[in-house]
Amino acid sequence: MSPDPALDPLREALRLSPDNVPLRHHLAGLLVAAGALDEAERLYRQGLASAPEEQRLRFGLADVFRRQGKPEQALVVIEDLLERPDPPPEAQLLGARLLLEAGERAQAARHYHAAVAREPDLADPELAARLPALGEPVPPAGEPDPPVEDPFVVDGRVRVAAGDPPALDEAAAERPSVTFADVGGMEAIKDEIRLKVIHPLDHPELYRAYGKPVGGGVLLYGPPGCGKTHLARATAGEIRAGFVAVGLDQVLDMWLGESERKLHELFERARRGQPCVLFFDEVDALGASRSDMRTSAARLLVNQFLAELDGVERSNDGVLVLAATNAPWHLDAAFRRPGRFDRILFVPPPDAAARAAILRIHCRGKPLGEVDYERLAARADGLTGADLKAVVDLAVEAKLREAIQVGVPRPLTTKDLAAAAKKVKPSTRDWFASARNYATYANQAGLYDEVLAYLERR
Ligand code: ATP
Repeated sequence: MSPDPALDPLREALRLSPDNVPLRHHLAGLLVAAGALDEAERLYRQGLASAPEEQRLRFGLADVFRRQGKPEQALVVIEDLLERPDPPPEAQLLGARLLLEAGERAQAARHYHAAVAREPDLADPELAARLPALGEPVPPAGEPDPPVEDPFVVDGRVRVAAGDPPALDEAAAERPSVTFADVGGMEAIKDEIRLKVIHPLDHPELYRAYGKPVGGGVLLYGPPGCGKTHLARATAGEIRAGFVAVGLDQVLDMWLGESERKLHELFERARRGQPCVLFFDEVDALGASRSDMRTSAARLLVNQFLAELDGVERSNDGVLVLAATNAPWHLDAAFRRPGRFDRILFVPPPDAAARAAILRIHCRGKPLGEVDYERLAARADGLTGADLKAVVDLAVEAKLREAIQVGVPRPLTTKDLAAAAKKVKPSTRDWFASARNYATYANQAGLYDEVLAYLERR
């Protein structure tokens, strides 16, 4: 039985005409008023899945998230609305509240005053009192509010959790020897990287002549083991550039100000060593960290990252920024703005032709007999590049054991590889289960269209 049976006729009407946006919005609003937030959330998400451009539904979803005590999700949804040319004043008001809670006072004030200028009835004196007045100078965006709770102060520095300050990790710059020839498949993605990062680096004057900005980054996302890191390393090898790989856990630091310093130092190192590919793995850790760290501290780091990426203080000429994540849905929406990670590429598991190419690459230099790569690849549906590497490694180990027993090395054959493949299980199922949910219900601006297309082809 539904929580509020009086709404059943409306539910039935919506079931019969699911594309009726005003009806959906009306029913969801009544559900919110009745406290049935989960059902309202479901209605908004379903509506957005088929009408992603509907601002009312987007606003409604953000409002529900906020009422459910999920300000991070609410902010992501509302920021998307606020970036549009003419956001509804109600959305600006809600955005102002959320931004204020996130410590972004200047931005919150901007949206609040814009909302009230267009819709004076929305004025909220209580909210206004907590915001800087029009024209009043505000601290630069992202400057943390003074710590109010648990202000651990040690030697005049504020830390965000208990513990000792860790030493700064030196991330070594390498000169990779792998190139695109060592990456199986991914032809479209390689082309995109050539166009977006390699050609601008080779011909900056041409790009400028056509008014195309040089810079920004490419974000690779997809299930683990499909070659995101490998591809980033090969990009550096392709142009004989340096490669600095950073796990964001190396940057995140419990000491306020330390993470920013580390991040700045990394960008500086890449700038000094240009041409250089600066690769951030698990970049979603920045977004996810917002719930773990004091909000203002975490936002400060996100802002610093974005400022470095934008080349606010120092030019990023000759620095290519690539990033990877298995969980793009945790990424702060601000990363996706133009000039930042505005190319977001899905790195799917390899198709049959790519699987054959990957097996060939990993069998290179090994003693080989007859190997039917195409047949092996056809039977290895669902295996990732990392899984296929594991297949070759397992087959080589088995062969080595055999060679030690008989005293002579024997070449690898199709049979050896097929036997090894039976021991390796496809590893991407869980990822696609989550991805399907996000792609269906949170596909903002068609971000996950490629995932949906991939799932449909399966
Ligand atoms: P994670 O998200 O877990 O970091 P990833 O997508 O970054 O995974 P990689 O670490 O790049 O995956 O892949 C693991 C290994 O699998 C690589 O070092 C490489 O040896 C192999 N591999 C993956 N994809 C390919 C490919 N397309 N061609 C050749 N080797 C590949």
